[in-house]
Amino acid sequence: MNPFPREGQWYKGNLHMHTTFSDGDLDLASAIAFYKERGYDFVSVTDHRKTTDAERFTTETFLTIPGTELDCWDHEGNEYHIVGVGVRPFDQDPTIRSGQGLIDQILDHGGVAIIAHPYWLGLERPAIQKLKGAIGLEVYNSGCMDCGKALSDVHWDDLLHHGYYTFGVATDDTHRYTYDGAVGWVMVRAAELTQESIMDALRAGHFYSSQGPELYDIRVEDGWIHVETSDVARIAFVSNRGRGWSVWAKPGETINKASIQHWTDGYCRIEAIDTQGRKAWSQPIWFNASR
Ligand SMILES: [Zn+2]
Ligand SMILES: [Zn+2]
Repeated sequence: MNPFPREGQWYKGNLHMHTTFSDGDLDLASAIAFYKERGYDFVSVTDHRKTTDAERFTTETFLTIPGTELDCWDHEGNEYHIVGVGVRPFDQDPTIRSGQGLIDQILDHGGVAIIAHPYWLGLERPAIQKLKGAIGLEVYNSGCMDCGKALSDVHWDDLLHHGYYTFGVATDDTHRYTYDGAVGWVMVRAAELTQESIMDALRAGHFYSSQGPELYDIRVEDGWIHVETSDVARIAFVSNRGRGWSVWAKPGETINKASIQHWTDGYCRIEAIDTQGRKAWSQPIWFNASR
């Protein structure tokens, strides 16, 4: 699952964005141009409850992946938003009244499902834990900054601690293309810039999420985890309960590597935090033979 030693290249992408085909402020062409101009390699346009056709904007160096965002309330009063990436075009079945039903509709159309902004929705572990088939949840959603609930890392760790293995995905959920544009993204390690290759990498967890810092290498060998990053203020090893550890730069300085001796059960995920407080999140390393 570790993407770092794998053959391939890193591709930068936004997996969650809206256009004037739903409630976004930019039309499709302008929304695509926004990300192209900012150096992204791919985007998935995920308008609400439908699939917007963006294929004509795919070029040799820029990929558009068809997507959608489905939503519903279930009979227990939980609201779910599920992002679907890499789907065959479809409209949401309005009769669906469960988070699992939304995931299943995305899977039935060939996509990968991502549990969107759990903090913003007030979704707690019992409502998430019963979902099957999503690759991950949004650990960070730029659009949810507007109400101060962009970061769902506590939700993620709560799930991981209780054995629900899932990836962390940073997205923009772009509506305004101002404060919510080009703030949170994924870096995907893929063989080539094609939908099939990016989708394979997403399913396998061959990606990390970021607001700015870069992860250059993560190696697990001889009982140690070695991490190399861009220049940051702190590298954190986050695990079950209080078992994690941080390596700090001295005040006014930065670091770009850290190593710790790891434990042999549970999980460890790595965060790199730069001097402006921006984060990068690795996927969890799971110290359990069954994973
Ligand atoms: Zn949403
Ligand atoms: Zn959205």
